[in-house]
Amino acid sequence: MPFNPDFTFPATEPARSLWFVFHEGRLLIKAGDEGQLIPRTRDLAKFDVSLIHKQYLGTLDGLPCFAAELAHHRIDCDGFELEGLRRLFGRLQEELIWVAGRANQLVDWNQSHQFCGRCGHATADKHNERAKICPQCNLINYPRVSPAIIVAVIKDNQILLGSNRRFKGGFYSVLAGFAEPGESLEECVAREVNEEVGIVVKNIRYFGSQPWPFPNSLMVGFIADYAGGRINVDKSEIIEAAWYSARNLPPIPPKISIARQLIDWFADKYSMPHSEKMAPKAYRPKPCL
Ligand SMILES: [Zn+2]
Repeated sequence: MPFNPDFTFPATEPARSLWFVFHEGRLLIKAGDEGQLIPRTRDLAKFDVSLIHKQYLGTLDGLPCFAAELAHHRIDCDGFELEGLRRLFGRLQEELIWVAGRANQLVDWNQSHQFCGRCGHATADKHNERAKICPQCNLINYPRVSPAIIVAVIKDNQILLGSNRRFKGGFYSVLAGFAEPGESLEECVAREVNEEVGIVVKNIRYFGSQPWPFPNSLMVGFIADYAGGRINVDKSEIIEAAWYSARNLPPIPPKISIARQLIDWFADKYSMPHSEKMAPKAYRPKPCL
C-alpha cells in the first residue's frame, strides 16, 4: 500500500478521502469493529466539524489524504473522539500510523509558522513546494525535521541499554540524542554515548532510519562497538544503564520503534551460536512511506 506524498490540493475529493484531524496533538478517531477508523470526507460532511489550516498530504493506495486542525475542542461526531498518537501505536493500522505521524508533524509546523520569525509579518503558503514564505522579507520556512541518532553499543556479546528519566513504564532501550549544529551523525553517536554513560565507541556503522513524529524527529540508527570506559550514567537523562546478553534482556520498547528493531537485531545475532560473522539483518523499512 504505497504512500505518494504531494502538497497541491487535488481537483476532486472522493467521499472516501482520509482526514487526519488534530486538536492539541490528539487525533480524531473512532473505534470500529476491525480497529480504529480515520474519518473520511463523507463522515465529516455529516457533522458540524469546523476545520482550519487544511493541508494536502498525498495519496495512500490511491486515496487522497488530508491534514487539518479542529477549530474548537467541542466535537459532536457520532463516536469520533480525540486520542493521543502514541496511544494508537499497535491499535491503528501501521500504514495509517505513519501517515498520521506525517500529518501531525505538518500540522504542528503549520501552526507554529503562521508568522515570520524574522519580521513578524503573516506568512503565506508557497505555491510550488511545501513551504511558507514571508511576503514582507521573503524568509522561507520548510517543515522542520530534527535529526537524532539512536545506537546499539555492543561489547563482548552484550548490548548497552539504559533507562531514561522520560521513559514511562520503566523499560530499557538503546541510547539516543539529537544532533548538534556542525556535527556529523557519527560524531553525534560518539558524543551522546560518552555524555550519557561515559563509554567510548568505535566502528560506528549505519543501521536504518525512522521518522518519529513527537514532534518532528528523524531517528537515524547505528551500531557501534565498545572501545573503552566504564559505565557512569549522567543521571540527568539516563538514570540507570548496564550491559545485557541476548538471553537476559530487561523490559524493552514496543515493536514499531527503531529502538526495538536494533535490540531485535542484537537478539537475533547474539542468541545464536557461531554467529560472529553474521551480517546485520536488513533493516525493515516502514511499509508505506
Ligand atoms: Zn518576514
